[in-house]
Amino acid sequence: HNCLQKLKYTRNLNIYVTEVQQDSILNAAESSAQAYRQGSAKLLQGIPIAFKDNFCTKGISTTCGSKMLLNYKPPYNATMVSKCMSEGAIIMGKTNLDEFGMGSGSLDSCIGPVINPWNLVVSNQTSVPDSVSSELNGEQGLSPREQCKVEDTDWYICGGSSGGSAAAVAAGTCLGSFGSDTGGSTRNPASYCGVVGLKPTYGLLSRHGLIPLVNSMDVPGILARTVEDCTIILNAAAGHDVSDSTTVTESYVPFTVREDIDLSKLHIGIPKEFHAPGMSEEVLSLWKETADCLEREGAKVSQVSLPHAQQCIICYHVLCCCEVASNFSRYDGIEFGLRCGSEESTEELYAESRHKGFNDVVRGRILAGNYFLLKRNYEKYFLKAQRVRRLISNDFKNAFSSGIDLLLTPTTLTEAPLVSWFTKADNRTRCEEQDIFTTPANMAGVPALSLPLKLSSNGLPLSLQLIGPHFSESMMLSVGHWLE
Ligand code: GLN
Repeated sequence: HNCLQKLKYTRNLNIYVTEVQQDSILNAAESSAQAYRQGSAKLLQGIPIAFKDNFCTKGISTTCGSKMLLNYKPPYNATMVSKCMSEGAIIMGKTNLDEFGMGSGSLDSCIGPVINPWNLVVSNQTSVPDSVSSELNGEQGLSPREQCKVEDTDWYICGGSSGGSAAAVAAGTCLGSFGSDTGGSTRNPASYCGVVGLKPTYGLLSRHGLIPLVNSMDVPGILARTVEDCTIILNAAAGHDVSDSTTVTESYVPFTVREDIDLSKLHIGIPKEFHAPGMSEEVLSLWKETADCLEREGAKVSQVSLPHAQQCIICYHVLCCCEVASNFSRYDGIEFGLRCGSEESTEELYAESRHKGFNDVVRGRILAGNYFLLKRNYEKYFLKAQRVRRLISNDFKNAFSSGIDLLLTPTTLTEAPLVSWFTKADNRTRCEEQDIFTTPANMAGVPALSLPLKLSSNGLPLSLQLIGPHFSESMMLSVGHWLE
């Protein structure tokens, strides 16, 4: 009931693309109450959960924030959805995102931007439009980004691309949510919205039914208010899935958050390459304070080097565009998705459908990917980027095998930026700046956790990130819990 109230009062933030009908939410809540009375409650019984709108939900539209899929109702549930449902969770709805997960601000969705709920807390400094979905989403032929520039309004963005999922938790419309994390899309909005964001080890959670962006980096991400909540959801979600051959067959569940963690046995690494230009003084001092605090409590803290981290962004973009070019060929207007143009010429039908269905960010990445994959460029771009990716992964391996347990870094350079600043540059430029600390973990497939630790002088959340070796979630979550 509480979540439904919050959902109602925060509709102008444009958090959800689709809300599940109130009646069915209330019915599910009633059956959960009964399960508790009968003592048959399951792990997530009665817990309101939201899903990013790139997870397939049977019979419920799944748009990826794109005109291409506005009318798409999948015939099946993503494994993450069915696992949560079978553990008794109540699905609240599908959350807004950058089109197909390509972005770091949640401004590039065909239904308009997501507004950070923290604007409501610091509202004396900002002014939020009354209704994003109806006012900004008019049919004036403006792109969602242009629609953000409404006179007399300025507001803090919520990060992206899983901005809706982070905002849904921050606004109290659910207790946990799923995002996806290909280059930071769970951790970036978690940082700006002041919630916990977990990018698990690649292969721990099934991607079946998560509409792909970059198959070799995509993972379902978990957002929640606390590390413990995050761990409970992780335990419900983790494990092998016959429908995703990249999931691990070993069982790692249950992950536990230890209350009695012995920090004196812990060796924390501070990667020196993460001192990037553009980092705010407040993020830098939070990073230092936290490292000092761990050291005072007995942990060993040393500087480490991940020498190839600086190549990460460029390498990520080459690989991302290549996989996008290949993945997005499925949207041809024939089998599913938007269909436009004359049906007399197949070529024209493809071209029209893809031109009208995708925004310019998506089309740009498809074009770039096809260019990198041309026979004459394949070696120079794609294969080279694959080799650099290996070097980036090896940097992590070397750090962890030299005795480092966890790396401590910022998640984002600053607190949530203002939309007026963010829209001064294009999607590509912003992704390059925003994803700097998050993409390395995706390249290496290692787990990472974003933790909100403090409020800035503007009253906005500031977060740091822990990165651990493959399958080190229990340790990472325990240290995260100690820090929060
Ligand atoms: N900003 C990155 C991109 O646009 C992150 C994507 C993601 O993690 N889904 O590619």
